[in-house]
Amino acid sequence: IQIKQLMSSLFDEGTPSNTELSTHTFDYDAVSLALNNKQMSLYIQPKMSLPEENIVGGEFLVRWNHPEFGVLTPYYFIDIVEHSDLVHDFSILVVDEAFAFIEEHFAQLKGLTFNINLSVKNLEDIHLPERLAELASSYNVPPQMISFEVTESLLIENLAESLDVLLRLRLKGFSLSIDDFGTGYSSIKQLSQIPFCELKLDRCFIHGCALDKDKQAIIEATVALAHKLQLKIVAEGIENPNDLGFLNHYKIDYGQGYLFALPLKKVSFLKTLEQQKPYSVRENYN
Ligand code: C2E
Ligand code: MG
Ligand code: MG
Ligand code: MG
Repeated sequence: IQIKQLMSSLFDEGTPSNTELSTHTFDYDAVSLALNNKQMSLYIQPKMSLPEENIVGGEFLVRWNHPEFGVLTPYYFIDIVEHSDLVHDFSILVVDEAFAFIEEHFAQLKGLTFNINLSVKNLEDIHLPERLAELASSYNVPPQMISFEVTESLLIENLAESLDVLLRLRLKGFSLSIDDFGTGYSSIKQLSQIPFCELKLDRCFIHGCALDKDKQAIIEATVALAHKLQLKIVAEGIENPNDLGFLNHYKIDYGQGYLFALPLKKVSFLKTLEQQKPYSVRENYN
């Protein structure tokens, strides 16, 4: 796995080492202040084509550059964001930063596709499709380069309300991904109602799949379902070569995971992309 060696030098995700942190909880005011003070920023985890292992894009993942505790993952703050009115400004800031990055490095990034997480609460904003389309056009980002992901379990609880906004995002030209698939209970009917382009199989089914017949059955069935519905399938959380070896027996389209790369700082993502040997097919649009 040549890519892995290439990237190991670039593994630069901060892990909070401060032991105080495990007992520390952040409240609404702290998170709100951090947003206002621009302490949140985006990392990017490369997304690989399988079995070739070329970078075909990436997922933007938010980090909090905490002045005292260092780089914090969403584990420490995403619940506060998603359960409050912060979520609207938060997602606009995330999308804004992602689009600005793509515009700035467009020459290097064109042909790739990027995933951006939305909270299901964002879908309550009926003006979201117009706002995101305007933002994309102000940054000259083709909507075809962007897939918005929503977590399966949360989406299904609010499907009726969300459906209209999802349909209109699709009409604006954005792609849609269903995230953490397998952890919710969507029916095949619901899946086919929503104009998804991509299904991301949750990492709990991937980790250890090489040795687990139940996980293998779930993966096999999900690949068949996804492809029947004309969705691309992404395996999340690939951590070891044995699991990857198993996954490569199936027609999984893309993979993400620590085996290939951690979420990287933007400069490291660009460097990694530069060092990857060029590949012939750069068309990755749905
Ligand atoms: P997610 O969307 O399912 O993102 C994938 C998570 O899996 C990321 O955690 C990533 O670092 C982690 N991951 C990637 N590869 C591996 C692996 O091989 N093994 C393991 N164990 N984990 C792996 P992260 O960055 O901590 O994000 C957690 C969740 O926070 C995300 O889950 C997403 O739902 C949410 N989130 C992150 N950024 C944003 C954002 O900008 N907006 C919103 N609304 N939610 C976000
Ligand atoms: Mg995601
Ligand atoms: Mg997610
Ligand atoms: Mg996920």
